[in-house]
Amino acid sequence: MSSDYLKLVPANPHYVPDDTAQEEAVAALAALLSAGSECAAQDFGHVAFIDQGENIEAIICPVCSKRLPLHDGPDAPAIQEWWYGIAEQFEDGSIERTTLAMPCCSRSIPLTTLRFDWPAAFARFELSILDPGIGENLSKEQLAQFEKILGCELLQVRAHY
Ligand SMILES: [Zn+2]
Repeated sequence: MSSDYLKLVPANPHYVPDDTAQEEAVAALAALLSAGSECAAQDFGHVAFIDQGENIEAIICPVCSKRLPLHDGPDAPAIQEWWYGIAEQFEDGSIERTTLAMPCCSRSIPLTTLRFDWPAAFARFELSILDPGIGENLSKEQLAQFEKILGCELLQVRAHY
């Protein structure tokens, strides 16, 4: 069985909304996406990798902007090996201190500056819902509702497992 999650996380990785705001956001998201289940807010206690699961198609280098595809092209096996080697190593508590050497331009960068297609994020707080029953992301207006409740700019991550 596969699962899809919609995850909303603060654009500022360290931001954690207060408890009242978290409860209000959980109730509002569960009401907005009533097909979904297990709507929850979570404070990981440290910056965590908010992954997109099997939706990962490529990693984008923040230095040279090169797209590193994990599934197509002659370099895909090497990129997969590089990325999964890194992903196995980083532990939640050390994500912010992890640096890595990019295979494209050999530059050393902080892990948290990596960009992804589909998007992933780094954050301490996450609001999530399982199988929300929508193909698209929340609209700008819908997202703005949650940004107002949680008091921060939000990023959307769609994960498939
Ligand atoms: Zn690069």
